[in-house]
Amino acid sequence: MLEEATPYDFLIVGAGIAGVSLALELQKRGRRIALIDNENPKSSSRTAAGMMNPMVPRNVQKAWKCDEIYPSVFEYYENWEHLFGAKFIHRIPTLQVHKNAQHTKNWTKRSRENGFQQHLSPIDPSDSHGLPLPFGGALCHLSGKLDVKEFLDAAYLYFAQGGIDKINQDFLHSELKRENDVWSLNDLWSRRIVFAEGIGLYENPYFNYLPLGATGGDILELEINDLPQDFILKRKEWLVPIGGNRWLGGSTYHNESLSTVPEAHHAAELIELFKEWIPQEIKLVSHRRAPRPTVATWRPFLGQHPQHDTLYIYNGLGSKGSSLVSYLSPRYADFLCSGSELPEEVNIARFVQGHFT
Ligand SMILES: Cc1cc2nc3c(=O)[nH]c(=O)nc-3n(C[C@H](O)[C@H](O)[C@H](O)COP(=O)(O)OP(=O)(O)OC[C@H]3O[C@@H](n4cnc5c(N)ncnc54)[C@H](O)[C@@H]3O)c2cc1C
Repeated sequence: MLEEATPYDFLIVGAGIAGVSLALELQKRGRRIALIDNENPKSSSRTAAGMMNPMVPRNVQKAWKCDEIYPSVFEYYENWEHLFGAKFIHRIPTLQVHKNAQHTKNWTKRSRENGFQQHLSPIDPSDSHGLPLPFGGALCHLSGKLDVKEFLDAAYLYFAQGGIDKINQDFLHSELKRENDVWSLNDLWSRRIVFAEGIGLYENPYFNYLPLGATGGDILELEINDLPQDFILKRKEWLVPIGGNRWLGGSTYHNESLSTVPEAHHAAELIELFKEWIPQEIKLVSHRRAPRPTVATWRPFLGQHPQHDTLYIYNGLGSKGSSLVSYLSPRYADFLCSGSELPEEVNIARFVQGHFT
């Protein structure tokens, strides 16, 4: 028998936005945590733009759990800002730029039908805020951005001050063993394990039965002079202000692509789209690319393994990870610590049939 050190309550595999926010919530509930992460600089969280937008613009529909998530998402991160002594959350309205007269008409109609009009102010073409808005637009006040990398870096520093052990290495699933109701990985022991590996799920023999997709996305850092940085600007493509004359521009959606290698023609195609409505000169500063961990039904994966009751998953945050974790991580921590119910739509119990029956 292996000699057993004092086991952690939870070992979390993956220190992206899912793993980190859950670790913080579990610590708040008095649990002893270790986090393992291989610090992939091209992970989804380290690439993301961190936009938080309460609507699905295509149909002018509310995002999932919009009324529960968005009124408190900023306060959620502001609390972590106070604890860490760092700045990473920004309240910035999103200006949806209308493409043509029909688009303006559809937006007005759909926002009314979908109960969204209290969050939107129509912008008249004559009141253009220094922006090119020939068909006007709609200003959404309940939006903003999280500097995801800054949030993660500040959390890691906070962990280093004590409380949460962060171990920087690859987690090899083949080395995981179970003895006396405790999991061991070499000299590390834990009663329960939560896998929050993003795309790393494909290598996970316990949970790779779940239908995780990988939707590749490009983000450009751009230099654009004389464009007011008061709003996130959005058509289908978007521009997020990051200070000075710099913007993040995105994005693309490449189905089932794990590539992290930016291709120049994708940057050129995006810049062409921006040129359709931004008259200022646009200079490319840098280009990055990563896969988003996505689920076809748009609902993440949370919950307990159907056969190993001390293994759990936290994945599938798709393209709204920054806002979703503010709602899901506290609930997941309550589920893990006191057995409260998870929202049914995200519980992986929905995939048991066919795999374990
Ligand atoms: C181009 C792009 C743009 C995006 N824009 C936005 C946006 O504007 N707004 C928004 O809300 N979301 C956005 N997203 C999505 C968002 O980033 C994701 O939902 C979120 O980052 C997923 O976080 P995660 O923690 O689940 O996964 P990840 O960020 O992938 O984290 C998983 C971590 O686990 C580590 N890991 C994996 N396997 C192992 C292993 N075996 N051993 C050790 N470590 C391991 C990885 O290195 C990584 O650090 C975007 C994503 C992309 C790619």
